[in-house]
Amino acid sequence: MNTFTDTYKHKGLRKKLIGSLREMGIHNEEVLNAIFQTPRHFFLSSAFLEFAYDNKAFQIGAGQTISMPYTVALQTQLLEPVKGEKVLEIGTGSGFQTSVLCELGLKVFSIERQRELYDKTLPLLKALGHRPQLFYGDGYKGKKAYAPFDKILVTCGAPYAPQDLLAQLKVGGKMIIPIGEGDGQIMTEIVRTSENTFGKKEHGPCAFVPMLQNRARKG
Ligand code: SAH
Repeated sequence: MNTFTDTYKHKGLRKKLIGSLREMGIHNEEVLNAIFQTPRHFFLSSAFLEFAYDNKAFQIGAGQTISMPYTVALQTQLLEPVKGEKVLEIGTGSGFQTSVLCELGLKVFSIERQRELYDKTLPLLKALGHRPQLFYGDGYKGKKAYAPFDKILVTCGAPYAPQDLLAQLKVGGKMIIPIGEGDGQIMTEIVRTSENTFGKKEHGPCAFVPMLQNRARKG
């Protein structure tokens, strides 16, 4: 169960977390502020409450994890979000990253492959007053009906950049996606430079749960 009280103690812990994110190279003030405004302990089961502001990933059910705060901060910073932009997130999970994107004033669309997580996260984000559009479905396909997107953020490890996602990116738009098979990936930035061309930049190794093909994994 989540507890919806955000105390001075929680705020203090978040302030400390922001300090360590700064030391780790996160410098976008809007991103840091959005993370400060987002009570991460709402997104974790009570077993992890006292560790909510440690820079760690945790189990969130269905064999999935909430990304560590540094990873959320880095991906969001790389995205260079601008208020009002349309963003597609792949892997809603706990909803923590979704919430940070909403806090930044973005128009958020997010897809989750695990029914259990979709069912849990939908009411939580509503209760927090956010209005992202959440979908239960396959992130490899994106959301054509709402395309094109200014930004696409993939929060699971993809074996490659899915064709449908590239096609749903605006010209001039950007996708941040961890690419790699197995346990490790490379944080990759892909910019659509024209209708038919894409630029690519790599931002070092990272580790995400895999982006599942076709079927949801039981867990
Ligand atoms: N952004 C999340 C991170 C969750 S981990 C958070 O802040 O908590 C990655 C998530 O991607 C998991 O919830 C997993 O179920 C989901 N996922 C895996 N493959 C997927 C796919 N093909 N389409 C959509 N979501 C997927």
